[in-house]
Amino acid sequence: MTTATLFNYSYSPASPPVAGPPPSGVRRIVIIGGGTAGWMTALILARSFIHRSVSITLLESPVVGTIGVGEGSTPWLRGFFDSLGIEESEWMPACSATYKSGITFAGWSTRPGFTSYFHPFASMLDNLTMSQFVHNVEARVQGAELYAHPDRFFIAARLAHERRAPKAPEGFPFDVWHGYHFDAVLLGQFLHRKAVERGVRYQSCHVTHATLDAQGDIASVATREGESYAADLFVDCSGFAGLLIEKALHTPWVSFTENLFNDAAVALPTPIDESIPCETVSTALKHGWAWKIPLTNRYGNGYVYSSSFCTADEAETELRRHLGLLESDVEARHLKMRIGRATRHWNRNCLAVGLAQGFIEPLEATALLFIQQTATVFAEFIDRGDLSEAARARFNAAMNDHFEGVRDYIVTHYKTNTRTDTEYWRANSANLNLSDNLKKLYSLWMNGKSIVPAVRQQLIGRGYPVFSWYALMAGMGVFPDARDLRAPTAEEARYRMEEIDDLIGRSARNYPDHKSTLARIPPRRRAPALQAYFW
Ligand SMILES: Cc1cc2nc3c(=O)[nH]c(=O)nc-3n(C[C@H](O)[C@H](O)[C@H](O)COP(=O)(O)OP(=O)(O)OC[C@H]3O[C@@H](n4cnc5c(N)ncnc54)[C@H](O)[C@@H]3O)c2cc1C
Repeated sequence: MTTATLFNYSYSPASPPVAGPPPSGVRRIVIIGGGTAGWMTALILARSFIHRSVSITLLESPVVGTIGVGEGSTPWLRGFFDSLGIEESEWMPACSATYKSGITFAGWSTRPGFTSYFHPFASMLDNLTMSQFVHNVEARVQGAELYAHPDRFFIAARLAHERRAPKAPEGFPFDVWHGYHFDAVLLGQFLHRKAVERGVRYQSCHVTHATLDAQGDIASVATREGESYAADLFVDCSGFAGLLIEKALHTPWVSFTENLFNDAAVALPTPIDESIPCETVSTALKHGWAWKIPLTNRYGNGYVYSSSFCTADEAETELRRHLGLLESDVEARHLKMRIGRATRHWNRNCLAVGLAQGFIEPLEATALLFIQQTATVFAEFIDRGDLSEAARARFNAAMNDHFEGVRDYIVTHYKTNTRTDTEYWRANSANLNLSDNLKKLYSLWMNGKSIVPAVRQQLIGRGYPVFSWYALMAGMGVFPDARDLRAPTAEEARYRMEEIDDLIGRSARNYPDHKSTLARIPPRRRAPALQAYFW
């Protein structure tokens, strides 16, 4: 088995922005919306263009609030802050942030031995045990009775279990890949402050409509306060409202509701424990799943459910029962979600970012990654002066592909569930609305054939690395011929779990307690060995 590096991440400090002439055809950019999408986009564009005489103005309605949820990230968020030169020691305390090693999925599968598993953020250190995991899963897929649950193979799972911070101490050469949990409102405020410090202009005003020019591009937007803002490029970060991309430009929308049934959520905070976990827990409930996200000062909890299968009141009661809050008067927030994507994220002179461009339910906390990726890649196109129709088509094709890849990974959690307690879960496992890509992946897996080459070439299973597919399928206990296992051959049984446990345990002991690490966030490491590897 070979180990491939799909993505390398190194911690080089951000280079200072370079002054120069403005990019071709772009002098003014107007962003509508001051949620996380608006401010992340403002900072990414400001870094590339504000020193090149491009004005960036962000308009935010004083009457429409931000969504105010969205408190978990993927590891890619590190790259966002690093590229802006913002240290963890600055932003994390300001946002009550904690480290995240991955996600525990509890109660999704009823298969004995597989009722819970951990989807880790894998890193270089996992190269010590990744081969063993892959070897055992492949043998198990081929019918050998071997231990193939992911949890004992990954350092991140052990760190989460022992509540250790995924931050290597000075002198230990292996950083581990991690994401974050944070207070969404505080993060928005932090990013707002940073963007304004870096030259982004802010205007509190309610946009009422856009005026199009003779070609159909957006010429300006008008506000209730009587102002008009003209620009070369507009960025629609207006959330589910889709003010420009949808209402002004009538860009068609592709709904994912046939694949993913959840369309609503209810959220409630609870007090944080004495020690602070470094994982998100996602527990399957009757009509969806509940998240539990640790911050330094509270847990964020919520229930993502399908309104076709239960009412908002039933969902709130079930969440309260799950949290032991039936008698509590802590107020719950109810939210609607629109699941799907715009057909064109970049349409004419308008880019949609965040909930305005699309949303896949938050099971794997991927929304901020889409924001970061959309704004970063868009900045590269502007930088190259590549704003043509062909450029837009390439950009949109890549974004759509990514959305659909992530959707397929999320769908797999539902499709492979074995719960039979409610119509919701039965409908999910019976759902035949699967992409061709996903059908191919399942077919290979269930026939004992390797999915590795096809996933590596991104022919199937797009958006997630091979190990994530293995962790999901093996973690849910999805194996062909599960009732008819044979004894493994000597070659198949070549790895001893005790040795793997020992290796992981010895590695994990190098990592410090999570809570005390949060009290004193260590400086960014600059050692050249700090890289993350995805198998
Ligand atoms: C239940 C739930 C859980 C989630 N969990 C996660 C998670 O764990 N991880 C993750 O990455 N993402 C998560 N998300 C998604 C995440 O919350 C969003 O992607 C992120 O907050 C970005 O939102 P936004 O900025 O696009 O929209 P919003 O926060 O809705 O902001 C919209 C902005 O547009 C402005 N606006 C609207 N209309 C006008 C107007 N007419 N004029 C001027 N301004 C206007 C508003 O004032 C506001 O500032 C979750 C979402 C939901 C619903």
